[in-house]
Amino acid sequence: MAAVNHILVVDDDGVVGALVSAMARSMGLHCIVTKDAANCHRLVTPDTAVILLDLVMPGMDGIEVLRLLGEKKCEARIVLMSGMDKRVIETAKKLARTLGLPVIGHLQKPFGIEDLQTALGVLSPTESASVPDETPMIEYDDGELLEAFEHSEFVNYYQPQVSLKNGEVTGVEVLSRWVHPKRGIILPDLFIGRCESMGLIDKLCWITVEMALDDVKHFRSSSSMYPRLSLNASVYTLRDLKFPDRFMALLVRHGFPAGRIVIEITETGLIRELARTLDVLTRLRMKAIQLSIDDFGAGYAMMQQLQNIPATELKVDMSLVQNMHASDSDRVMVEKTIEMGHELGMEVIAEGVMTHEQLMLLRAMGCDAAQGFLFSRPLPASELTKWLARKDKEIDKGDWPASLPAAMDSDPLH
Ligand code: C2E
Ligand code: CA
Ligand code: CA
Repeated sequence: MAAVNHILVVDDDGVVGALVSAMARSMGLHCIVTKDAANCHRLVTPDTAVILLDLVMPGMDGIEVLRLLGEKKCEARIVLMSGMDKRVIETAKKLARTLGLPVIGHLQKPFGIEDLQTALGVLSPTESASVPDETPMIEYDDGELLEAFEHSEFVNYYQPQVSLKNGEVTGVEVLSRWVHPKRGIILPDLFIGRCESMGLIDKLCWITVEMALDDVKHFRSSSSMYPRLSLNASVYTLRDLKFPDRFMALLVRHGFPAGRIVIEITETGLIRELARTLDVLTRLRMKAIQLSIDDFGAGYAMMQQLQNIPATELKVDMSLVQNMHASDSDRVMVEKTIEMGHELGMEVIAEGVMTHEQLMLLRAMGCDAAQGFLFSRPLPASELTKWLARKDKEIDKGDWPASLPAAMDSDPLH
């Protein structure tokens, strides 16, 4: 048996450390607290299940710690803590992802035991106690990732995107999953960063696209049109000057129209080697491929992106969508993003829609389309085909959007 898994708390505020420690104990979890950010990596062992990391600390701040943990190839899951604006936390989360670190959540200070329980929800009681050596939860080594490519362990899940005017499916977003032989389904946040740092991300991109172009042939709905395929492309892939031609050759081979492909771009890392990336993006656009700015509103450089990238779609970040009813500023951000997108001739899609209330507000704001658990979780190809058939019937009966549930739970496992 392995030693008891523990939580590591890195926070300069001793009160927070003591509080979390007490809360963790009451949840049956072992906890180590340190104020020494610069040396906290020394306390990370294979038994560290989760690191709770404060973002704002004197001396070395949380962002620098993330960089350090990234360099050390830390595999413990990370929960970010901060009293700062949610958007700062969101950006830090993205940064962590680009460093290959698995961030599983955040805690907005001040937080209570329920928030902590939610953030640590992935730590089942059995995981917090002794666990057998052969089943470390999501820790995997580089060799396993290489094997995943050799053994074709990646599959595509598809999440529908729905028109807010009539409920019709306008497209599907392709989301990668790793079906690990022992650990089951691993979500992309836990392997995309590592693929990037190991130089495997292009390979994953081509595997994903090939599978999507095969699967999409089964996705024709009653409108007899293929849904648009939205693909997430890493900034590393978008720096490859050969990418547009190779991509077009693939589309021709599959007989899939370039105008029904959307490439989703996140800003992280775009700024570096911008000229090269813009070269690729502009050529993709010239070949009729559509470009979407993903997670819009979550980062710093959004205005710059809008000016630079010849995008056709804006994707409103889910943190804004999910906070619209609680925060006036987030509601205004969503409203203005929709207006601005339309003025610039773009379509605007909202992601992370989980309640009827959010859907109705987005419709009232004139948002074009939406995606989220309210409509469907990401599904394997065969299940999406069935979902599309059911959906057609609802629309034919004029049941949409009344046929939707009021809200969906937020089980992150799909
Ligand atoms: P993303 O592009 O922002 O994708 C949306 C994420 O939100 C997906 O997580 C999706 O499952 C989740 N989601 C969708 N609707 C809801 C909702 O209503 N509520 C909540 N709470 N979540 C929702 P997923 O599949 O874990 O993907 C995470 C990220 O990994 C993606 O974020 C994307 O940036 C990246 N990714 C996924 N597949 C690929 C891929 O094939 N290549 C690359 N380069 N990145 C990928
Ligand atoms: Ca996306
Ligand atoms: Ca997104």
